[in-house]
Amino acid sequence: MNKLLSSTKELSDKYIMNTYKRLPLVIEKGEGVYLFDEDGNKFLDFVAGIAVNCLGYGNKKFIEAVSSQLELFNHCSNIYYNKPQTDVAEILVENSCFDKVFFCNSGAESIEAALKLCRKFGNSKKEGCNEIITMKNSFHGRTLGAITATGQAKYQKGLAPLLPNIFYGEYNNLESIKALINENTCAILMEVIQGEGGVIPADKEFLEQVRTLCDENDILLVFDEVQTGIGRTGKLFAYENYNVEPDIICLAKGLANGIPVGAMMAKEKAAKYFSPGDHASTFGGNPIAMSGAKVVLDEIINQKLLQNVRQVGDYLKAELKVLKIKYPDIIQDVRGLGLMLGVECSISPSEIISECQKNGLLLIGAGHNVIRFVPPLVISKADVDEAVSVFEKVLMKINK
Ligand SMILES: *Cc1c(COP(=O)(O)O)cnc(C)c1O
Repeated sequence: MNKLLSSTKELSDKYIMNTYKRLPLVIEKGEGVYLFDEDGNKFLDFVAGIAVNCLGYGNKKFIEAVSSQLELFNHCSNIYYNKPQTDVAEILVENSCFDKVFFCNSGAESIEAALKLCRKFGNSKKEGCNEIITMKNSFHGRTLGAITATGQAKYQKGLAPLLPNIFYGEYNNLESIKALINENTCAILMEVIQGEGGVIPADKEFLEQVRTLCDENDILLVFDEVQTGIGRTGKLFAYENYNVEPDIICLAKGLANGIPVGAMMAKEKAAKYFSPGDHASTFGGNPIAMSGAKVVLDEIINQKLLQNVRQVGDYLKAELKVLKIKYPDIIQDVRGLGLMLGVECSISPSEIISECQKNGLLLIGAGHNVIRFVPPLVISKADVDEAVSVFEKVLMKINK
């Protein structure tokens, strides 16, 4: 240990690569929907690891399932079968419109898997049919493929050359997408609600028309539900809110309540283009991650969790809309679905977020002027009351 530096913050800044702009908070433990720092300060957590910790902290079934899996065996190669992986695959397929799943370890990896499958599909149709349309202001992750798919220049700076044949349409603008489609287009990739871009939901009509466009032109439709999936919007998958089925879906964040995991699911018409050797992951579908994912999915499918997301989410949205009326100079818009809500501000969200943190509430930004509310899916109305009262106190202070 370095003797001159003592705090976790100082040591972290010395030894860990400088890729994160961190807030001055060292997390030590979690309990329910609260996090505690190393000084014992308590925070109501409306960040949840960025829409990850859907069951909060200390869920008994989750701890029990993961611990017993650890005692059975920690890992095995995908050259063998294992039951936890098969169980989760069955639950995902039987509760979705998809036929097959590929497991990986993160959102970006699920995007990579989808990009590869789309190219396999296109190139097998016609040599050179490998163009993919994604959206401006999107976010799909940080690997070179995913960052190329991400239609925001700020994330791509200095990384040239990016992947070829990815083109950007405008979200919620059908004409801009039509203009990019040609005989070499194999897929269209988009979020159902743009998350990092500022919590911007797709218009229902837009999704329906893109679906039709894909059908007419034999193009695969891929939804990146890394953030919106697994109950976040009040349905298991956000596409269910729109009644528009994609051919491929990407999942990650909430799937295993904080154990690294990702999944790419596809309908047979796309899935059939992957054969042994085409794609793989050493850790993908690891039994520990799968034991965690099984608990999350059981809670969502068999318990009243989705109902809670809808009820408490609607309540939070209504409360935030009241604040919009009370503080029209600060709040421009309140939007989102379920427990994925955004408050668009006319002032810098970072000041509001930092003041909230000082008052025991954790929030996170999205885009350049949006504050995101993505708490654990298990929060109650009382938790919302607590969060809203801190949020309002901060707005009141800033408004003066
Ligand atoms: C977070 C996110 C990703 C990237 O996930 P990682 O696990 O960080 O690679 C991709 N797409 C969307 C929509 C996301 O919100």
